[in-house]
Amino acid sequence: MELLKQRILKDGSVKEGGILKVDSFLNHQIDIKLLNEIGKEFKKRFDGKKIEKILTIESSGIAIACITAQYFNVPVVFAKKSMSLNLGKDVYTSKVVSFTKNKTYNIYVCKKYIKKDEKILIIDDFLARGQAALGLLDIINQAGAVLSGIGIVIEKEFQKGRRVLEEKGAHIESLAIVKSMEDGQVVFR
Ligand code: 5GP
Repeated sequence: MELLKQRILKDGSVKEGGILKVDSFLNHQIDIKLLNEIGKEFKKRFDGKKIEKILTIESSGIAIACITAQYFNVPVVFAKKSMSLNLGKDVYTSKVVSFTKNKTYNIYVCKKYIKKDEKILIIDDFLARGQAALGLLDIINQAGAVLSGIGIVIEKEFQKGRRVLEEKGAHIESLAIVKSMEDGQVVFR
């Protein structure tokens, strides 16, 4: 997606540890016009696939998933990163190793929001080592739901998350694929 790539080159910055910072338009301040284009692009990429719900993970995935969901006309469910009394006891849970924080955390989804046989599209901002998407896929499997695909805004190809997810049979669509980020330079595939 050319518009996104140009924006990454203009406003993104490379941080230590293979992290790309896109706080000015995706992760902190959010450019809604760009997000609308991202939503339309996901709709195009997954055209013809049966999608009944979008599943994401808090917090950065939520805005992207919500705008995308308008084009699919489906609800969004987001996995929570902390257990609260509001969630009740009937939850699916999985463990995720965080790429950016380098620690393991649990994610939780209330059982009533993912149904057996429901066709689910996972949406997230980044694909690095694939652990966040793997945790969401684990919850889909626990529920007996079906993965329709995984939509990623920015994939860092060199961190090899795609392989982990494709081994599980996932169809992945990434809107910008970063081949390398050496010397602070973002190079796309
Ligand atoms: P993974 O689970 O695929 O290893 O990493 C994906 C998750 O980590 C995403 O949910 C995203 O929030 C975060 N993440 C991974 N790499 C980056 C990055 O370069 N920049 C930002 N802002 N977040 C990242």
